[in-house]
Amino acid sequence: MYNVKSKHAEEFIDHQEILDTLAYADANKTNAELIDSIIEKAKLRKGLSHRDASVLLACELHDRNEEIFALAKRIKEDFYGNRIVMFAPLYLSNYCVNGCTYCPYHMKNKHIARKKLTQEEIRNEVIALQDMGHKRLALETGEDPVNNPIEYVLESIKTIYSIKHKNGAIRRVNVNIAATTVENYRKLKEAGIGTYILFQETYHKESYEKLHPTGPKHDYCYHTEAMDRAMEGGIDDVGCGVLFGLELYRYEFAGLLMHAEHLEAVFGVGPHTISVPRLKRADDIDPDAFDNGIDDDTFAKIVACIRIAVPYTGMIISTRENQKCRERVLELGISQISGGSKTSVGGYADGTLEDDDVTEQFDVSDTRTLDQVVRWLMERGFIPSFCTACYREGRTGDRFMTLCKNQQILNCCHPNALMTLKEYLMDYASPETRAIGEALIEKELEKVTNPKVKEIARRNLAEIEKGSRDFRF
Ligand code: SF4
Repeated sequence: MYNVKSKHAEEFIDHQEILDTLAYADANKTNAELIDSIIEKAKLRKGLSHRDASVLLACELHDRNEEIFALAKRIKEDFYGNRIVMFAPLYLSNYCVNGCTYCPYHMKNKHIARKKLTQEEIRNEVIALQDMGHKRLALETGEDPVNNPIEYVLESIKTIYSIKHKNGAIRRVNVNIAATTVENYRKLKEAGIGTYILFQETYHKESYEKLHPTGPKHDYCYHTEAMDRAMEGGIDDVGCGVLFGLELYRYEFAGLLMHAEHLEAVFGVGPHTISVPRLKRADDIDPDAFDNGIDDDTFAKIVACIRIAVPYTGMIISTRENQKCRERVLELGISQISGGSKTSVGGYADGTLEDDDVTEQFDVSDTRTLDQVVRWLMERGFIPSFCTACYREGRTGDRFMTLCKNQQILNCCHPNALMTLKEYLMDYASPETRAIGEALIEKELEKVTNPKVKEIARRNLAEIEKGSRDFRF
């Protein structure tokens, strides 16, 4: 039944293949010889199959686990350097017709305040986000064909791109909306979105159907095949993810990698990003009611093994996780984080809204401001990057992946990260953050080995200092 190239979800995410993979991983979790050979394969930085990666995830040999963590760290450095891309979620509407049992926006929740932003309210949100320094957003809406039709999402994207407040601009809008048709994906592509993001929640079909008892999202195959339709609609950057805590994490891990293998086999390009959210407390949702929660050590191991299995795929962590947890996984593989996030509808423009708390999709664990997050990253030697150049230069899909697989992306990304950081420091940072940032830029510039790139970067940084904006390689 397992067929990586099949168009049918139950064939490319074949349940039996996952069970066989888990049995194989379990049988080999202390097989030093096999584990060593997989680690050697991983060192080639070409990725691993779901079977091999599952053995590493299951590995119970302490010294080999240390090697796995060390390798993940090295691969992260090789492909992404020390830059971390910044973004913020923007919730447009929490109207939803689905019955997801882990999300407070589910239709039966009658006491949560329902809200849908008008274009004027979106404008206010975007100005507030621009004034923080954000350049990259992830749009979020519930699924509701009446309240949040595709036309509303398209109009909102247009509004967002049109707002230029002071030196601010949103340069990349990623979209996280419910599974839809090829035609709608084509419209999103035409609207100039960056990545289309859709979390699978769980790859386990039986659990999926129980967790989504009502609404269009109940259809496992339609949901699981959404990325295929998105790619058919011309979107070549897609972002996958599962909600850890719903099912057994090893099952999700294998499913996630099989999904990536499927997209690569059919479209020649795997997911642009993988998100690793964990189930969190929210309004009427108690995470303890779900049996499959994972601890921080397991979470770190998952991040490390994904990093090794798909080295060229970005990895995203949100403010669902606290500072300590984010700190640990940043080194192991995370390449994008959110900062200063509000997970309520209309939460940025007016944080004092009375019903602010009750429209949140989940409780934010990392409540620091963007300035604090930026400073914290720099103090740890990371470069916070507000860069969106690849997407705007057409380096998406397989063009991006080719650069990334050849480790060439560093030649573009490193100077671009420094230039966008400089913009942030000039326009939005506190004096303390700016001082740390200026010193970091100077130090990082010395690492650029190509004299021509270095010269152009220096020139551009000087222009940014004088007030020019939006340089990119
Ligand atoms: S997860 Fe999405 S589809 Fe499900 S209830 Fe929440 S907003 Fe609706």
